[in-house]
Amino acid sequence: MTYDAVVLDNDGVLTTMTDRSVMVRAVRGAFQDMGVADPDPEDVEQLIYGVTPEILQSVSDRYGLAPRPLWYRRDMRSSLVQEREVRAGRKALYRDFEALDAIDRPLGIVSSNQHRTVAAILEQHDIGHYFETVYGREMEPESLARKKPDPHYLDLAIGDLGAENPLFVGDSESDVQAARAAGVDSVFIRRDHRAETELAVPPTYEIESLAELPDIVHRSA
Ligand SMILES: [Mg+2]
Repeated sequence: MTYDAVVLDNDGVLTTMTDRSVMVRAVRGAFQDMGVADPDPEDVEQLIYGVTPEILQSVSDRYGLAPRPLWYRRDMRSSLVQEREVRAGRKALYRDFEALDAIDRPLGIVSSNQHRTVAAILEQHDIGHYFETVYGREMEPESLARKKPDPHYLDLAIGDLGAENPLFVGDSESDVQAARAAGVDSVFIRRDHRAETELAVPPTYEIESLAELPDIVHRSA
């Protein structure tokens, strides 16, 4: 049976990664919104990538803050700065995006970025029409337990596409884990920023460019 749909991660797959310094500024701004003028740099780091509900709670506790408003401000500021990065051309579409034109299957996106951010990226790059379904996170702490490696949003996307044998494409271990949890095959795209990445969980396929994807999708699985 060939694959009947393709779901892709966004950051590091379709568009370039957001510069880390931009994210540091967003998180520091969120602390300042909450009245913390000079947060510990380590706590700022903790709220950038790989944030779990437990990490958010423990960081919030250290400053006597409620996690929900801190997280909302973190996500909103992060979304606004990323939108600016896209408009400034610093968060660009990878050149091999055009390979998606050769895929004769419905496409979807599942991102751990804010839904608002993913929507802005699609609009700015004028690529929304490629995708039949798109999921990012809601800007609330509960979404931290639903994001990849949890298959929550991937399951929803697969349901929307009515797919029985979809393929999920990502650039992180959490993408491969989410595919596995959803019971679907995975593609790990090893771009330059993942040159040194070692995966504890093997993907079904590994590629270096989206140009390799159409053949995988159309061949018999
Ligand atoms: Mg990614």
